[in-house]
Amino acid sequence: MTVGIVGAGQLGRMLALAGYPLGQDFLFLDRTDDTPGAKVAPSLRGEFTDRRLLRELARRSEVITFDWENVSVESLAALGRRTRIAPPLAALAASQDRLSEKRLFDRLGIPTTRYAAVDSRASLLRAVKRIGLPGVLKTRRMGYDGKGQSVLRRLDDLDAALATMGGQPAIYEEFVPFDFEVSIIGARSTRGEVAIYPLNGNVHRDGILRVTRSPHGTAALQRRAAGHLRRMLGHFDYAGILNIEFFVRRGRLVANETAPRVHNSGHWTIEGAETSQFENHLRAILGLPLGSTAARGHAAMVNLIGTMPGREALLAIPGLHLHDYAKAPRPGRKLGHCTLVAANPAARERRLRRLLRLVDRGA
Ligand code: AMP
Repeated sequence: MTVGIVGAGQLGRMLALAGYPLGQDFLFLDRTDDTPGAKVAPSLRGEFTDRRLLRELARRSEVITFDWENVSVESLAALGRRTRIAPPLAALAASQDRLSEKRLFDRLGIPTTRYAAVDSRASLLRAVKRIGLPGVLKTRRMGYDGKGQSVLRRLDDLDAALATMGGQPAIYEEFVPFDFEVSIIGARSTRGEVAIYPLNGNVHRDGILRVTRSPHGTAALQRRAAGHLRRMLGHFDYAGILNIEFFVRRGRLVANETAPRVHNSGHWTIEGAETSQFENHLRAILGLPLGSTAARGHAAMVNLIGTMPGREALLAIPGLHLHDYAKAPRPGRKLGHCTLVAANPAARERRLRRLLRLVDRGA
């Protein structure tokens, strides 16, 4: 039986790698043949909006999923009710537009930043007056890894920030001077079973995730974040993995964004949890029992961005697990990641420091 995956990036590749031991087959759809996914499974080549190719993917798959949240909701919806798609398209649509994402948080009682929709200089000025400075102007659509964002510190920054939006609809939100950032990842199966992973502590640089540590934060923080995630899973009658990212300020959670897919901050689960997020995504969308989300120790994940450090030097670090996505190097591009799992946080930090020295030298 085949799972169809729209998008053949590293997330799709890791989904396929997790599914083979379960006896599952995979078929990708992506714009080029030169993708991380196409190196491990067959791939249809064409646009994500190509109806003919999507129909072929549907015909050859028992369920369709996606590894990128900017795939076309309309084109997937056009496949009709007979094609099983998971996670639900309503969750995909909400995550594609920062304004509907904020409204969803509001509706579900999940605390988020104050925000306002911006579509002109006048509306930005009104938003800045109401919400204050500093703030962040973000395009509503197609933003990821800090792309399509600019920080306004003074009113003088207004025109420069507007110019970077290129006339696209945007939102303005308050800048949160957070103490740290966390994300929560969980799975809900087509049978309604829910399993939630320990909190991830995330460190970003230039808007891109650099390091994740898990488990992270207090039991109370975990409980509250898990409660928010559960509400969203229930709201969508969700199937698959869902992620919510939060800022933490003075012990309070402030939701930043949600992604209806496996997430970079959950890569540590491959070696650091009883069942990886990739396997649980597949179990969830295939209606299989979910696996335990318990941590096996104290994990750290480091993204390899822009350049790959030497493989020999990386593998000389005891217990290091390397994931090379087989992508061409390019500044700001995620090329791979490393995971360390230690018996206690102190041992993890010691090995993490060694890893970060290597990665910084390579970058
Ligand atoms: P995003 O694309 O919204 O996930 O933003 C990427 C990163 O930029 C976040 O993980 C934060 O580190 C930072 N960031 C985004 N929005 C804000 C905000 N309102 N206040 C402070 N930092 C932010």
